[in-house]
Amino acid sequence: MQTVDVLVIGAGPAGTVAASYLKNQGYDVTILEKEKFPRFQIGESLLPCCMEHLTEAGLREAIEPLNFQKKTGAAFMRGEKRCEFLFEDQFTKGWTWTWQVKRADFDNRLAEATRAKGVDVNFECEVIAVQCGPEKQVVDYKDAEGNQHRIEAKFIIDSSGYGRVLPRLFDLSKPSSFTPRGAVFSHLEDKNRTETASNNIFVHSFDNNKSWIWAIPFSDGSTSVGIVGDREKIEGLAENDGEKYKEFVRNFEDLNGRFADSQFKFEPRAILGYSIGVTKMAGEGFVLSGNSTEFLDPIFSSGVTFATASGLLSAKMTHKHLQGEAVDWKKDYEDVIQKGIDVFRSYVSGWYTGDFQTIVFAKHIDEDIKRQICSVLAGYVWDQTNPFVKKHDTILPTLAKVIKMKEKAEEAGS
Ligand code: FAD
Repeated sequence: MQTVDVLVIGAGPAGTVAASYLKNQGYDVTILEKEKFPRFQIGESLLPCCMEHLTEAGLREAIEPLNFQKKTGAAFMRGEKRCEFLFEDQFTKGWTWTWQVKRADFDNRLAEATRAKGVDVNFECEVIAVQCGPEKQVVDYKDAEGNQHRIEAKFIIDSSGYGRVLPRLFDLSKPSSFTPRGAVFSHLEDKNRTETASNNIFVHSFDNNKSWIWAIPFSDGSTSVGIVGDREKIEGLAENDGEKYKEFVRNFEDLNGRFADSQFKFEPRAILGYSIGVTKMAGEGFVLSGNSTEFLDPIFSSGVTFATASGLLSAKMTHKHLQGEAVDWKKDYEDVIQKGIDVFRSYVSGWYTGDFQTIVFAKHIDEDIKRQICSVLAGYVWDQTNPFVKKHDTILPTLAKVIKMKEKAEEAGS
């Protein structure tokens, strides 16, 4: 039977970052990946903070030649209102740009680069059963022909994303506190993109902040366009091969006809009920990373950054564990990742209550406040010197209330 030091489930950003880091430390690492790559994945707009993780895992250089669209900021719109954040203008010292990527190409290159380091990356190998114990972990998987195999590892990192292999097998899933939402999306040709138009992601909020539409321009001239909303709304937009979604994208007045006559590159796809949590992030012989832990909501494009952050930290802790050092998985891993997730939880809540919009669309937005919010939007959610990180749970509603009162008083006075 094959025996390895570390078995990683899934070759997305979390899995490849974790596997690469551990290979760099000299471990024998195998990845089992269910799909054949390249494969489509949603999650195309990265955050600057993830560049740190890709760099530390030794993967960033492999991505550079692909010439993905450089992302230098993000813009939010609602009707006539607009607020653009530029990452060069942020509070935390860090990366000022990142990429907007087609995940098929991005993830494929990450997997190739991980394999080039010496990690054994196996595609079309679906993990179907796992037994964990103090000494060894036993993993059963099925190959493309349906043949079953067994592999033993000293430790498992579950980076299976939406597959959530260990949360499913070990009954670790926890419902999300967010309203069940969904998304419907496709890629479109973007002939009306003008030179002056921003190449950065932009998001329009509508339906009284309950729904929003994203546009993520790619370097090949196409753009990803998706709509997020309550489950019923998305089911309606997605039915009949996304007929109503297409109509909406062509006619939504705030897009000013940008996609009025665009070809859709593939039939719209929908994803529903993606917000979910876990009761714990590590146990005997295993740790969870990326979307196997908790996924909140796509609004602030935080998914891949959490995947790379948790992939990297889970690998560091695994290294420590395999060195025979004591690891406090709750304190040194789960609490750290949870802290970052909780910051975004406050911002996601603030988006759907409208507090975030009240702040960013205010008549006057203080430049320091904007810089501090900008660092959250860049993914630097572990910087406790940033008041918009440290006081994340109270600062948005408090500030929104003050702004509303001030604007009301101004209106009354005018
Ligand atoms: P994944 O990328 O899902 O990779 C997991 C891999 O595990 C997959 O390749 C899968 O095939 C494999 N796997 C699954 N089951 C098994 C098994 N049994 N055996 C072996 N392998 C298995 N994030 C962003 O950063 N930016 C965005 O703009 C963004 N937009 C989003 C829009 C929507 C509508 C949604 C729902 C999410 C969005 N996300 C975004 C989130 C993003 O999709 C995820 O957070 C990210 O892909 C997680 O990476 P991962 O490595 O954890 O998992």
